[in-house]
Amino acid sequence: MELRILGRTGLQVSVLGFGGISIQSISPKEAEQLLLQAVKLGINFFDTARAYTDSERKMKCLAGLGSRVILATKSLARDADGLRRDLEASLEELGREKVDLYQLHNVSKKEELERVLARGGALEGARKAQEEGLVGFVGISSHNADTALEALRTGEFDTLQVPVNVVESHYEEKGVLREAGRRRVGVIAMKPMGGGAIHPAPAALRYALSREVATVIPGMRTLRELEENVAALEERLFPDDREMEALRRLADSLGDRFCRRCQYCLPCPEGIYIPQVFICLATWRWRGEPERAVELYRRSVPVPASACSGCGSCEEKCPYNLPVRDMLSEAVALLEWKGWPPTTGVETGEAMIPTSELKPTPRNKS
Ligand code: SF4
Ligand code: SF4
Repeated sequence: MELRILGRTGLQVSVLGFGGISIQSISPKEAEQLLLQAVKLGINFFDTARAYTDSERKMKCLAGLGSRVILATKSLARDADGLRRDLEASLEELGREKVDLYQLHNVSKKEELERVLARGGALEGARKAQEEGLVGFVGISSHNADTALEALRTGEFDTLQVPVNVVESHYEEKGVLREAGRRRVGVIAMKPMGGGAIHPAPAALRYALSREVATVIPGMRTLRELEENVAALEERLFPDDREMEALRRLADSLGDRFCRRCQYCLPCPEGIYIPQVFICLATWRWRGEPERAVELYRRSVPVPASACSGCGSCEEKCPYNLPVRDMLSEAVALLEWKGWPPTTGVETGEAMIPTSELKPTPRNKS
């Protein structure tokens, strides 16, 4: 497996990294088998987060592998005390005394960036942890190109984690990747498959690696997926003309209904967290996993799409001109048609709607 330097950290990371969000949905035993096989196949960069439920705990099996594994985790806290609590919980779950890279998670709005940078903010907490040797390097992740650019310009971060795929090309268009390169900030490419919308996987991974990034971190849930991804990148790292053409055609067809999770549409006066609703919708439509989509929706969307009053302010703010209200209506039809709120099963992950009653759309992941 080829290695690249992760910016000014100097860490040498495998071009194929492991995105830990995906192992939430497999058993601890399956996760252990998968993660250890990933190491065997040459993957040395593993990314997880406090917010990924039991993902950190499942990564404890990597604790004894020393420098063979570079481990990154993240905190959603915006203040120093909250970050400290998260970090201590993460170290406990991961079975480690130190994490190699600690990232401020999903800092996508300008105000959030201001909060983490302010006195007593999350960055201050991360720096203190770094001084104490609990954290190797400090990075940031974002779903918003403007905020990512601003974060880079502060000079505070060693790494940047952003989506890199053929649809979310605005990170490149706005010069985020170039600026990161100029500042020697290591780029970790997340969402290479755009949440399941972009396929086939080999072309999507090669596309990400053809940009200015150090590693690409798809979520993987099976040994087969892992082995196919490794084999694809061993064959070659960059897409050929045919793959590029197919990816561009796909991007054109997805453009007008693909939510980039940039959050410009927020706040919604009814309190709907619009991008999360669309993640659930994508899980159904593009990943072809209706049961998971419903469970995710019930677990992660506190204010349902059906609360939309139709005011239209989100559509005025969305830079991609998405028909947000139409898409929310689709979410209501697919994800809420048994009523709201849920009464049982959320915490256990138990599906409350029998699969036989669900109506998947024909568009499945490849
Ligand atoms: S149209 Fe609906 S989702 Fe959009 S801002 Fe108004 S209430 Fe919120
Ligand atoms: S709906 Fe538009 S503004 Fe809102 S997160 Fe998605 S792409 Fe961004």
